[in-house]
Parts: sequence; structure tokens; C-alpha cells
Amino acid sequence: MSTSRRTLIPFLCTFLTLQGLVGCGSNPPSPESSSPSPVVPEGASESQSSGQSAEKETSTKTEKTSHAGVDLSGRTIAIDPGHNGGNASHPDEIARQVPDGRGGTKQCNTTGTATDSGFPETDFTWAVGQMLEAELEDAGAEVVMSREDNDGVGPCVDERGTFADDADLMVSIHANGSESTQSKGFHVIVADPGTSDEAEDGSNRLAKAMSKAMADPFTPNRAYGKNAISRRPDLGGLNNASVPAVIVECGEMRNPSEATMMESEAGQRKYADALMRGVVEWY
Ligand SMILES: [Zn+2]
Repeated sequence: MSTSRRTLIPFLCTFLTLQGLVGCGSNPPSPESSSPSPVVPEGASESQSSGQSAEKETSTKTEKTSHAGVDLSGRTIAIDPGHNGGNASHPDEIARQVPDGRGGTKQCNTTGTATDSGFPETDFTWAVGQMLEAELEDAGAEVVMSREDNDGVGPCVDERGTFADDADLMVSIHANGSESTQSKGFHVIVADPGTSDEAEDGSNRLAKAMSKAMADPFTPNRAYGKNAISRRPDLGGLNNASVPAVIVECGEMRNPSEATMMESEAGQRKYADALMRGVVEWY
């Protein structure tokens, strides 16, 4: 919130979208994410409510101490919470083509996935992104965010890379939506090839740092190799990033145990803590 850049990009995106000048959003909504506002079935919400209040107390207590002694003064970190809450209700806007970072074009953005109970990926990435932002700022870092709220549309994948141009590194937060409920665990994605030798080296190092930090409380998805790191040429956010950048797919939203973790505030705090440790490890 402290720089004009942080507010300008999402604002411009929203403004231009409203003017019909550009679209900032993506695909036809998937069945799980077609509702513009997150709907958690009453049963699920009730079953979590008592646990959540206890978890809130725990997370509040640990918030101030979990990264005590970490000093990130002078560092700038870019956080990209994947997708956006308004994407699902703006299919035409998020379907428009934008630069893919490889000389071609790609769809602006997508809706993301959801848990079987209807908790959308965008709510998860927003919650974790905000927690990570607070933890980084508590440690003295400057933070730039790719979006300012969770009810807008976009930004598009090109902006989800370039917004980080003045940062030391960029972390894009997502969760995966494999069809199988048996799929479990996090994986980390880097661009292949990187946008420069320096960015590629930094991204590879960041991927290892994130994998190591995430593997402490969470399960690496071995389908993506021993360290759960994959390399992809087709992801617009990474391809448009000039700085070291990774996507962290924090887990599988259709896996029952991981879904429960992602839906709870205490679980979201664990993901944010792990990402924070990954950032610190990278420096
Ligand atoms: Zn995603």
C-alpha cells in the first residue's frame, strides 16, 4: 500500500475494464468457481467454526514471534495472489489475449479452482498473500502486491509478471485442482527458460528455498520430482517477470485433508509462514 505502483496497476486494470477499454480477467468459469462469491456449505462452515476461533487465538499469538529476529529492511518482495474474485463473473474480460512473455499471446487470466465444498482458490491465495505481506512488512521489507482486493477482475498475466520489476523476487501463490482426490502436496514452478541467466539462476535458487521451506509442514508432491519442482515454458506470469520468480502451488484443493487445511485460518497461516521462511532462506 505504500507505493503508487502497488495501487496503480490494479486500479488501472479495474478502471479500464469498467470503461470497456481492456479486459483483465479469463476463462469461462469452472463449475466449482462459477459463483462470484465464495459459498461454503453451512455444514462445512459450522463444523469449522469452533475450531477456527481456537485457531485464531493460536495464530494471533504466533504471529508476532514466528519470525522474530528476521530483518528484511531494504528488501522488496513482490507477492502475486493467484486469480481474483471477480474473474468468474467476467469471462469475456479474462479471456482476452495479452503478451505471454515469449513473443506470443495468452489468455489474460483464469478463474482458478476450488475445494469440493466450494471454497475458491482466489480466496485462499488472497488470505495467504495478505498474511505473507504482513509478515514481510513486520520484518521491515517493502512489499508490492499484484492486486489490492479480492473482488476485482485480473490483473492479466503480463502484469502479474511486470508488477514485480522493481522487487528482488516474486512469489505467485496458487493451489492446484487435480481431478483426483488422491493427489496431494505442494509443488513449485519456475520458467523454462528464464527471462535472463540471472533471473533463471535466482528463480532456481528461489524454487529450492521454497521447496525446502514448504516441505517442513507440508507434503511435496513427488509427481513433480524429488523436490517437487517443475519447469514450464507456458506460464505468462513467470515469463513476464524480469526478477527471480516462482509459482508455489501450495497443495491440492480436492484432496480432503489439504482442503480442510486451506479453508482454515490456522492452515492459511501455516502456508504463509512457510512462504515467509522460503523468502528468508533465499536471501
Ligand atoms: Zn491458480
